[in-house]
Amino acid sequence: MSVKSTCAYCGVGCGVVVEPGPDSAGVAGDPDHPANQGRLCSKGTQLGETLNTADRPTDPLVDGEGVDWDTALDHVAHTFKETIARHGPDSVAIYASGQLLTEDYYVANKLMKGAIGSANIDTNSRLCMASAVAAHKRAFGSDTVPCGYADLERAELVVLVGSNLAWCHPVVHQRIRAMRADGGGPVIVVIDPRETATTTGAELHLPIRPGTDGVLFNGLLHWLDEHNLTDTDYIDAHIEGYAESLLAARASGSVEDTAAACGLSPIELVRFYKLFAKSPRTVTVFSQGINQSHVGTDKASAIINVHLATGRIGKPGAGPFSITGQPNAMGGREVGGLANQLAAHMDFSAEHVDRVQRFWGFQRIADRPGLAAVDMFDAIADGRIKAIWIMATNPAVSLPKSDRVNAALAGCEFVVVSDCVRSTDTTRHANVLLPAKGWGEKDGTVTNSERCISRQRRFLNDSHGARADWEMISDVARRMGFEAQFNYESAADIFREHAALSAFENDGGRDFDIGALRELSNADYDALPPTYWPCPDNGPVTTEPHGIFADNRFFTPSGRARMVPVRSFGVARDVCIDYPLLLTSGRLRDQWHTMTRTERATKLNRHRPWPTVTVHPLDARQYGLKADEIVRLTSREGTADLLVHCSTSVQPGGLFVPMHWSDQWASAARIDALFSGTTDPLSQQPELKSEPVALSALDVHMHVLWLRRATTEVSRPNCAFWASTRFDHCAVDLLGFTELSDREGLLATLLNDQAIHLRRERDGRTIMAASVVNDALETLVLISDRPIATQVGWYAALFEEQTLSTETKATLLRGSPGYEKAFEAPGPTLCACHGTSVDSVAAAVASGRAINAEAVGDLTRAGTRCGSCIPEIEHMIEKG
Ligand code: SF4
Repeated sequence: MSVKSTCAYCGVGCGVVVEPGPDSAGVAGDPDHPANQGRLCSKGTQLGETLNTADRPTDPLVDGEGVDWDTALDHVAHTFKETIARHGPDSVAIYASGQLLTEDYYVANKLMKGAIGSANIDTNSRLCMASAVAAHKRAFGSDTVPCGYADLERAELVVLVGSNLAWCHPVVHQRIRAMRADGGGPVIVVIDPRETATTTGAELHLPIRPGTDGVLFNGLLHWLDEHNLTDTDYIDAHIEGYAESLLAARASGSVEDTAAACGLSPIELVRFYKLFAKSPRTVTVFSQGINQSHVGTDKASAIINVHLATGRIGKPGAGPFSITGQPNAMGGREVGGLANQLAAHMDFSAEHVDRVQRFWGFQRIADRPGLAAVDMFDAIADGRIKAIWIMATNPAVSLPKSDRVNAALAGCEFVVVSDCVRSTDTTRHANVLLPAKGWGEKDGTVTNSERCISRQRRFLNDSHGARADWEMISDVARRMGFEAQFNYESAADIFREHAALSAFENDGGRDFDIGALRELSNADYDALPPTYWPCPDNGPVTTEPHGIFADNRFFTPSGRARMVPVRSFGVARDVCIDYPLLLTSGRLRDQWHTMTRTERATKLNRHRPWPTVTVHPLDARQYGLKADEIVRLTSREGTADLLVHCSTSVQPGGLFVPMHWSDQWASAARIDALFSGTTDPLSQQPELKSEPVALSALDVHMHVLWLRRATTEVSRPNCAFWASTRFDHCAVDLLGFTELSDREGLLATLLNDQAIHLRRERDGRTIMAASVVNDALETLVLISDRPIATQVGWYAALFEEQTLSTETKATLLRGSPGYEKAFEAPGPTLCACHGTSVDSVAAAVASGRAINAEAVGDLTRAGTRCGSCIPEIEHMIEKG
C-alpha cells in the first residue's frame, strides 16, 4: 500500500508517494503536495535506492562493544548526570541537526534547556540559515519567512542572490522554469560570483566580487532614494530606521563607485536597479551564499531593507525569501533548537523564561543563551564541555576547522552519537553509538522553507533494532529523574505539546502559533495533510500557502518593521602573497551533505564521482595544471587534495570545491578543514564562502583506476592520494602515487592475485589488466603516468555486462574510445536518471538536431525524467 511522506533532503520539502518493496521502494512525487505538485529532483527520485541496510548500527555500541539498550541508556544518563554534578550544567552539550524531525528536536531542546538547565544545544542549521534568522528578528521582531513558493510564480521579477537554486533547491527552480516555459513567468536576475546551472537562462547574471552582496543592495537603496522610487507612504506608515539605513547606504557612493566595488560594469548594475524599480512584484531569494558569511546578517538585512523601503512584503509575489538548506531547519527554529533561542520562537527574556518554565514544569530552566556551534566545539577542545551528544549529523566533516573539530572530539571525555549510519567521520569518536531510525522507519513532522508542516511517515516495518531519536532522548531524560516531563508514548504526544506551547499565553504577540493543532487525535495526526503556519486556536487551518504581514503589522514593540543600517562588507580574510586564491564551497546537484545517504544511490555518484576543485583556465595555465591533475589546496587551517576541473564558471583568482567529501570517501577532501571558522557576530554563523588558499600540484607520477565487482574486498595500498566511489555494479578507487613503484607488484595486489585474462600495454606508459570470473569482469586496473579519472564511466559500464561479449573484450584490448584523444573521453554522466553522458549530449547538440532541451531528450533521453539536468543541457546548447 502506498504511503505519503516527505523527502529526506532539502528545505523545499517535497511530498513523496512511496510504494514499499522487498529491497527498495518506489518513490514518486506527490501530486497533491503544495510544495512540489508531483515534481521531484534527482536526489528525491533515487530515495528508494538509499534504504539498503549496509553499514547500519543494529545494537548500541559502548566503547565499540555491542550492548543492550538498557545498558547503553543507563550509561549515557549516568555519565551526563555525573558530569553535571561535578562540573555544572554547562559542562554538557547537545549538537543536533536539521535532519531530526520536529518531535525529536522538541524533546532534545526540552532535555537540554529544561531538564539540564543549560542552553548548550545547537545544531548544524547554524551552518545553514542562522544569519537569515538574525536578520528576520532584527527586521520583523520575529523569525518569520514572509513568502511562499507560489509567490515566485506570481512575481514579475525573481532575484536569486547567493543561491544556486537549480542544484540546491531544484524543484523550486523547476516551478519557476515551468512558469517561463510558454514565454511568461518572472524575469530572473542571478547575483553570484560563479556561473552556475542557475545562471543559465537568467535574463541577467551579475558576477559580483565575493563578499559584495551587501554593497550592491545598499547601492540599490541609495539609487532608489535618489530617483524617488521608494514607497514613502509605506515607509511613513509601517517602517522605522529608514533615515539611518539610507545614511549608511549613501556611503556606497555613486553607481560607478558601487559597480567598481562589486566588480561590475555600471551599465549592468543600473540595468538591475531599473528592473527592480519597475517590478512591484519582486521576490528576492537568498540562501547559503548570503548566510554563510562573517557578515551574513548584514547582507540579509541589506536585502530586506530594499523590500521594506519599497513596501514589497506581505503582498502576493513580493518579499525577501530565505530558502533553507535542510529538510527540517525550519522545524528546528520552531522548537528553539539554536543555542540563542529558548522554545517556540521565544527567547531568553525574563517573561519568556518564566512562561516556558511554567509550561514545562521544571524548577529552573536555562535563562541565557548557550554556545553556538563553532564556540561549542572550541569549548570541547579546551575542556569546558566534557560530554556531548551528537544527533543525526557529522560535524567532524561539516564544521569549519574540521581538523580541530576531530581533535576536540578525540580528546573529549564522553561522546555520544545517535545516527542511522555506523561509519562516519564523527561516529569514529563515539564512546557510545546509539542506532537511530532512518527515513522510512520514523514518524513525525518537518517544516519546509515556506512554513508548511508535513508528515514524514513510517513505511518500513523493520527498524533493525534502531529507536527514534525522541524515544532514546526521553529514555535518557527519565533515567536522569525527569519521568513526568518526558512521559511520551508517541510522536503525536510530543507534537500536541509542541503545538500547545506555541499557543500558550500567545495573544497574537508571537508569530509561531499552531494552537489549532494542539488537540489533534492520534488518527488526525497520522492523517495530517501539509499545513501552513500560523494556524492559531480558533483560526483557519490552511493547507494552502498563505501570506503573512498582509496587515503590515510586525512583531516589534512598535508594530513597525525595522530597517537596519548596513555597514559591514567584504570577506573575512582577503588573499595575500602566501594565499593568493579565494576558495568558496557549495553543493553539487546529486549529493547531499556528507554523502552518508546519497552515496548509497549509485546512480547519483555518476554525475560528479570525484572530489574536484574548479579552477579558471587562466589560473590553470599560470600554475601549469591540466584537467584531472591532483593538486593540494592549503589554507592557514588545513589542506585538501583534489582533482583539477578547469572551467570559466569561476572567476580568475577564485576556486570552487564541493562540501560533500569526508574521510570515508577520499584521503583528504574534507574542504571545511580549510575554513577558519570566523563567525558573524550576530548570528554566529561561520564563513564558509571565502577563504584564501594556496594551490600546488601534487607530485603524482602514477595514476591508477581500480574497479572491482562490489563483492570483492581488497585493502587499499598506501598511496599519496585516493578517492573512492560506487557505481551500479562495481566499487572504484582512484589512486595517486608519488613514487614510480613496482607496477607489476601493484597490479598483483590490486587484482588480489587473480589471474589476468585481458591485458593491454601502450608506449610503456599505460597498462590495463583485468580478471574475468564466470565470463564477467571481476577486477579491472588501469595504470598510467597521465590522469585517467574521466575514464571511470566507460570502464564502470562494462561491469554491467553479466557476460562479456567478444566485442567488449576486443574494445578493452584496443582501449577506450578516448584513449587516442589524450584520455579526454568518455566524459562524465550528465543525466543521473538515464546515465546519459556529457559526450552524448554534446554530440546531440553538435549534430544540429537538438535545438532545445526537449530535442536533446528525444535524442538521448537526458532530462526526460526528473529534469534536474535540464539547466546543464541548456547551458551546453547556449555555448554551442
Ligand atoms: Fe527532495 Fe529534491 Fe524536493 Fe529537495 S528539491 S525536497 S532534494 S526532491
